Amino acid sequence: MSKKKNNQQNEEDNLVSSSDIEVAPNFHFGVQYFIPEWDDLVDPGYEFSTDSFTPNRHTYTDDKYAHQIYTKPNYDGILVSKVVVDKSKRKKAHIEQVGGIHKFIRFEGKIMGDCGAFGYITEETPPYTTVEILDYYQHFGFNYGVSIDHLIVGKFAEPGVREKRYNLTLNNAEEFINQYQAGQYKFTPIGVAQGWSPESYAKAVKEIIDMGYEYIALGGLARTPTKNILEILRAVRPHLNSHIRMHLFGVGRINGVQDFHHLGVTSFDSASPLRSAWLDSAANYHTLSGKTYAAVRIPPVDKHGLRVKRVLEAGISSREELKQLEQNSLKALREFDAGKLTVEETLSVLLAYDNLLELPRDGKVKPEAQARRQRQHTQMYRKLLEDQPWKQCDCAICREIGVEVIIFRGNDRNRRRGFHNTYVFYQRFKQITQR
Ligand SMILES: [Zn+2]
Repeated sequence: MSKKKNNQQNEEDNLVSSSDIEVAPNFHFGVQYFIPEWDDLVDPGYEFSTDSFTPNRHTYTDDKYAHQIYTKPNYDGILVSKVVVDKSKRKKAHIEQVGGIHKFIRFEGKIMGDCGAFGYITEETPPYTTVEILDYYQHFGFNYGVSIDHLIVGKFAEPGVREKRYNLTLNNAEEFINQYQAGQYKFTPIGVAQGWSPESYAKAVKEIIDMGYEYIALGGLARTPTKNILEILRAVRPHLNSHIRMHLFGVGRINGVQDFHHLGVTSFDSASPLRSAWLDSAANYHTLSGKTYAAVRIPPVDKHGLRVKRVLEAGISSREELKQLEQNSLKALREFDAGKLTVEETLSVLLAYDNLLELPRDGKVKPEAQARRQRQHTQMYRKLLEDQPWKQCDCAICREIGVEVIIFRGNDRNRRRGFHNTYVFYQRFKQITQR
């Protein structure tokens, strides 16, 4: 084993070493997984063989969420950010019209509302008032409502800026609970803490608990290394007691979840299993063993994708030739799935299209870049074809659409693959936290 690998191994081992610390007094709450909602819908009648949508479909009423496809949801709750709700007037009007957030996302479980601080991170102050937000949570029927916070990350974590945001977040939490107690609100209030060090987080948590909150949250840790999150949690832990629940915003790490729970985290949210289906450069399809696979990129020639557009502009290939190679690739994968082609035969068809798709820079493709792409994709796709992981998954998506799930192509395949990843994540999460 190389030295680098050794270090990585040690780091992984360290992640499960908190067991020497006594469990947090709120451990009995267990730990729950919330998924952030961002219009994660698919067309239930999508026709994969012809790449066509259900005729005359209406996105908000006809398309389906993951929890409508699986017999049981692959999450304990859903997080809806106000910035996402406010994205379109039509959407907001529709939530109003159907009678609230549960009916809109057709989910009977718990729904948490927050403001979505990432959406206004560059603004001096959040664009909402506390009274407006309290009424919004109540009016739309949220189960949990988070106070208005301001992120302390990146350049906003510089001394001078961070203190302002820290105090603003605490003042908002105080105003939120005071107004809450004075009103007739039905949801559970959550006070959120931001910080820049274990000490600053711990101090904020103490203040928030003293304000009267029984559910608190830590924000701004989505990109923080697990090791540093554990340090923060260790500093926070002495302030927790048996009736306090604690949410971790934007942190869903299968290797860290046991330690997080141990140190007092009772819920967290993460969209990364879902979104890695199309955002990760290689780990697009996840499996229960922890092994991941790249999806096969077969972009549609006629859908105006940037890559295909650049290839055509640079004159690397003609539209007709690309379309032929694209169709050959889809056909080859389906024939491979049916046992009619070998791995090598399939691979050569896939690479004939893939090799033309290196993105041209200034109208030219660099031979080294193309060679690198070819090498990487040959290796990734061969591993995928040899293992055929989509045949081993018994989730509703893989059973229904088979090999289409591993094709990197448009919302209806990519998001379904994300639903599958969420299913895998939730199964692994349950195994880890319930043993
Ligand atoms: Zn699956």
